[in-house]
Amino acid sequence: MKEEFDIVIIGSGMGGLICADILSREGYTVCVLEKNKQVGGSLQTYVRDKVIFDSGVHYLGGLGEGQNLYQVFKYLGILDKLKLQKMDEDVFDKIIIENDEKEYVFAQGYENFIQHLLKDFPNEEKALRLYCDKIKEVCSKFPLYNLRAGGNIDEKNAVLGIDTKGFIESITNNKKLQTVLIGNSMLYVLQSDKTPFYVHAMILNSYIESSWKCIDGGSDIGKYMVKNIRDHGGVIHRNTEVKKIVVEGGKVNSVELADGSHVYGKNFISNMHPVRTLDMIESTIIKQAYRHRIRGLENSIGGFVLNIVFEKDAYPYIKNNFYYVKEGQEWILTAYTEENWPTCYAIFFLLHQDRLYMLSR
Ligand SMILES: Cc1cc2nc3c(=O)[nH]c(=O)nc-3n(C[C@H](O)[C@H](O)[C@H](O)COP(=O)(O)OP(=O)(O)OC[C@H]3O[C@@H](n4cnc5c(N)ncnc54)[C@H](O)[C@@H]3O)c2cc1C
Repeated sequence: MKEEFDIVIIGSGMGGLICADILSREGYTVCVLEKNKQVGGSLQTYVRDKVIFDSGVHYLGGLGEGQNLYQVFKYLGILDKLKLQKMDEDVFDKIIIENDEKEYVFAQGYENFIQHLLKDFPNEEKALRLYCDKIKEVCSKFPLYNLRAGGNIDEKNAVLGIDTKGFIESITNNKKLQTVLIGNSMLYVLQSDKTPFYVHAMILNSYIESSWKCIDGGSDIGKYMVKNIRDHGGVIHRNTEVKKIVVEGGKVNSVELADGSHVYGKNFISNMHPVRTLDMIESTIIKQAYRHRIRGLENSIGGFVLNIVFEKDAYPYIKNNFYYVKEGQEWILTAYTEENWPTCYAIFFLLHQDRLYMLSR
């Protein structure tokens, strides 16, 4: 008899693993299919010359007691296992703007955040308070973000349409402050007149609430979730690429793997890019209009990462991150040319093995 799982998950990134962890502990039979040798997607690490590098996550927000990621990791039982270090309360990010010698500071805790920026913008208290209040208000409208049940679409609708640029320009005419407030926006590739304020708000809120580093790298998050999933009877197959999502009788009933075999399930979750997912479903169960809409959505740009290992004691370990943006490019990070690239970059110092990590876009 063919084996059928309650849940088949395509991809073992943070999203796929969290789904698998939650569902397997709730008693569902779960199978995760990962095309790569390593699980974790952007949580992966890689090794060069015996040095381990993170491919993605270098700092996390919302891990203070009671905050959102804290609650998720606590529920998953991985909070106490991860080796976390809280970043400097008085500076987690420093914003550097071309042709300006100052380094602007983002501090943890809303009042602390305001007080630090007031040192550089003493006349902007009203704007800073409006900014922080709006971030908190917008974040409060998203039940999932706040790990509460319920909420209706009207609640979110009231804030979904707020544009980042429009809002920030409405609270202050100070161009420098505007640039500083979006100083770390390469994290989510902010685009003028495109990026909704809620995206900006959720990311900033989590880091202002609290900012943390995983001492042994982000792959630990994946490693502990994999253990949980297996402990709950879940199955994880690596080096297993899904090629096709098979529909029979108007319902997805299996996925076809690169070797031609099938994995059967009652429910399927895709952790892949939505366009890739739809491309794998050759069926009319997905309406053409929906396919066109999803295919028509613009992807964000990629990043170029340079990892540098310094000789011991050659460079100090700095606890905060740096974000640099070229003057005049802050709202148009993606409008780069061969001449002006990079329009922005970030520097992250990693805790383990005293590594310096640079990311530019
Ligand atoms: C360079 C970089 C730096 C980042 N820094 C931070 C940070 O500091 N803090 C932070 O909070 N976030 C950071 N992020 C974002 C964070 O890492 C991602 O949002 C998150 O890890 C994405 O998880 P995901 O599950 O959505 O997708 P992914 O991690 O992309 O997972 C998708 C998985 O699906 C698999 N897959 C795809 N196609 C198939 C297929 N056909 N068959 C089987 N498997 C398939 C992939 O191999 C992958 O493992 C960073 C991201 C990057 C890229």
